[in-house]
Parts: sequence; structure tokens; C-alpha cells
Amino acid sequence: MLNIVLFGPPGAGKGTQSQSLIEKYSLVHLSTGDILRAEIAGGTELGKYAKQIMDKGDLVPDEVVIQMISNKIDANLAAKGFIFDGFPRTIPQAQALDEMLAQKETAISCMVSLTVPEDELVSRLIKRGQTSGRADDNETAIRNRFNEYMKKTLPVASFYQNQHKLYQIDGVGSLDSIFERIEGVLSHFSA
Ligand code: AMP
Repeated sequence: MLNIVLFGPPGAGKGTQSQSLIEKYSLVHLSTGDILRAEIAGGTELGKYAKQIMDKGDLVPDEVVIQMISNKIDANLAAKGFIFDGFPRTIPQAQALDEMLAQKETAISCMVSLTVPEDELVSRLIKRGQTSGRADDNETAIRNRFNEYMKKTLPVASFYQNQHKLYQIDGVGSLDSIFERIEGVLSHFSA
């Protein structure tokens, strides 16, 4: 299997690049943010619970997102591989993911980390906020999402670096040129 963690701060372009990747590599895209937003749109109990956390830009508790990902992996056992987008966002999530994949006799192939300067991220997110309809694309929530990223999520890159699986990609430029850089990394791995 080809199992990729697409990593980077809010606004790095993970969702956009995921779309191109699933088309080319026929992988199953697992975005915890998208799954949570679908729960909100469906008016479920989980959605109601998650919405008040997400609107502030805080992280949803580990056990909630770990269970969501576990269910999705079990529901897609025939997949050629997965793109994890927005997950894992904490060290406990990364450890749980390693265990889940080991149980299926597979593992993360690599983490592709998109690097973008902070002022570029803020301007992208403010622009997205004008069209996305996302309740967390406002200045207060954006600031909090960056804080959460620096405090809890950035250590996840070291977690994969220790496993020699971290690849840093320049996330600035045209969508095609960024995609080519990601393809360059993935060419070292087979499904
Ligand atoms: P995203 O679409 O990835 O930017 O996620 C939007 C929001 O969903 C985040 O700010 C968190 O509140 C929540 N969320 C998404 N993925 C996770 C995760 N892996 N762990 C905790 N919270 C998450």
C-alpha cells in the first residue's frame, strides 16, 4: 500500500493537493476536517459537539478523531492506500495510526510536509474565508489554529523524521509545480 501523510499548517494547501493526488494514484482520501464538517452538515450529535470546538480553532479530542479514522480504514480495506490529510495532528494520534496500520500489516510510507511562510498562510486563509463559508476562517480562529499547530501538531513532523519518513516540500508556487514536487517524493515509493 501507499500510505501518505500530507502535513502542513492551516492554509498550506493539503486539501487542494490531496484532490490531485487521489486522481493520479487512486488512493482513498481521509480528511478528518472534511469528515467532521460532514457530521456538522448532517446535524449529528458528533457534529454538534465538534462544531463548538472547531469554530474556536481548537483541536477535537484525540479519541474522537482516532475512532473516526479507525472506522474509515476498516470501511476501505481493499484500498490501494490512503492519503491522511489533517491527521495525525498530535503525537498520540500518530502513535494510534501506526498501531492501526500495523494491525492491517501495513505502515505509513512517507510524510510529505508542505512548507509555506506564515504571512502567505494568513493571506491565503483570509482569502479562503471570503468564499469557503468555513466558520473557522476568521482572524481569531485562524490565530488559535496556528497556536494549536505550533504546540501540538508540529512535533508530529519529528515523530516521522525519527522514522526517516519526513519529506519537506516547498508549498509556494503554482499548484502544478507543487504537485510535481510531491510526485518527485512519491516516485520513490510503490503502492
Ligand atoms: P482542517 O479542515 O484539517 O483544517 O480541520 C478543521 C478543524 O477540524 C480543526 O481546526 C480542528 O478543530 C478539527 N480537526 C480536524 N482534524 C483534526 C485532528 N486530526 N485532530 C483534532 N482536531 C481536528
